[in-house]
Amino acid sequence: MAFHRTALLTAGFIVFAGAPASAQLHATGVPELSSRPGAAYTIYIDPAGFNYNGTWIGSTPGNNLGLNGRGPGEAFTAGDVTEIKAIWAALSNQYRGVDVNITTVDPAIAAGMAGNDVQRQNFYDSQPRMMHTIIGPPGNDGWQGGADGLAGLGVIDSAQTIGSGLHTNWMFSQDVSFGSDVANGNYIGNIASHEGGHTFGLQHQGDFTGATHVNEYGLGDSFSGAGSYVGTMGNAYDRQRVTWRVGDAVDDFGNQFIQNDVAVIMGNSGMSFVDDGIGHTMGTATALAIDGAGNIDVTDSTHAGWINPLDAGNPQPIGSEHYTTDFFSFYSDGSTEISLVLNDGNDLLVAGIADNGATFRGMLTILDDAGNIIGTGTEDSSTMFTSFEDTLAAGQYFAQISSFGGHVQDAAAFNAAYYFDMGGYFLTGDGFVIPAPGTAVLISLMGVVATRRRRA
Ligand SMILES: [Zn+2]
Repeated sequence: MAFHRTALLTAGFIVFAGAPASAQLHATGVPELSSRPGAAYTIYIDPAGFNYNGTWIGSTPGNNLGLNGRGPGEAFTAGDVTEIKAIWAALSNQYRGVDVNITTVDPAIAAGMAGNDVQRQNFYDSQPRMMHTIIGPPGNDGWQGGADGLAGLGVIDSAQTIGSGLHTNWMFSQDVSFGSDVANGNYIGNIASHEGGHTFGLQHQGDFTGATHVNEYGLGDSFSGAGSYVGTMGNAYDRQRVTWRVGDAVDDFGNQFIQNDVAVIMGNSGMSFVDDGIGHTMGTATALAIDGAGNIDVTDSTHAGWINPLDAGNPQPIGSEHYTTDFFSFYSDGSTEISLVLNDGNDLLVAGIADNGATFRGMLTILDDAGNIIGTGTEDSSTMFTSFEDTLAAGQYFAQISSFGGHVQDAAAFNAAYYFDMGGYFLTGDGFVIPAPGTAVLISLMGVVATRRRRA
């Protein structure tokens, strides 16, 4: 078994709950957040501090303070809470469509194994498909010499030896690069995603020129800002999107190989893609939730979904046809301009507002009741949302949500690499109509006629 250690960048995971976690005192006031309760895999983000028992790969972590150095008897500030939410949001975007729960709620509590930190640590080790990621404060990393994070390689899938601590990993980036400002929550979250990737068996996505290994952590596109990508398993910051990639990596024996990050994650025994519950064809389209004012109801779960690669066994990053497609149905009254916006990323923290750390990049297509394309969304220069505005004849229409189709790395000095456009999205907009019952029937019947005509 290999153990991953990152000198510059690494991600780790830890979890702590809002309620006092155990008989051992830690910082209090962690917001309780869970991206997919009941998922096969759990990444528990623990920012409250932890008394580690024993050694971890030959080092002695000992007592760890919480995020921003909060210790026993201290409560997290509003700024701390914002940062914890940002960490959780970035991780939740990274793992949106796969069967992983990103949570700040300590699973040891529900299991009755949270009496003290030794009991908690042993509980995590005993649980297949669970990681306890300690989000460390400045100074926590003294015992291991300056890494941003630490994680065992491929340790999450199986139960680990009690006392090994291998289902605990570490996140120290806070004091390495960006100080303790709230904004670095997104950075910590992305690096924590990188550490989580190691626990699923992922190696670093690096930069190679031919067979020459240039950068251990691939730098991503040669440009930054709108439309730029970098690998989660590479230098996972400083580009707009931090995503899973297909590209050069190095195995435990130092050999260059092509790593498909998503294929490796899907190779874990209990892993699967999760369906978002949105219709994947026109015939099974999900009715867009509209409120009484004609706006998309962002408090209704049917305003959002996620896009995954189609083939779990051989996920392909390039080409929209290699991803799932979602369909929503909606109505126009014939006189009100409809505005429909496809927003990239989740809106799990505040409905209708994009969380930090979006991985998805989408395309929006509008179809009429007969399946004819009548419009496409225009991507904003930020690349973070795509919008459609038009006044449509009265009737039923469909919004098709597709992957942008992946990104080919723009870095001429290095071998080719390819990024996935997968993850969460949500819809916002106005100008829609909820047809009166009689009208709805009429439009529906017209739709049936059109459908039959098309099939004839
Ligand atoms: Zn690493």
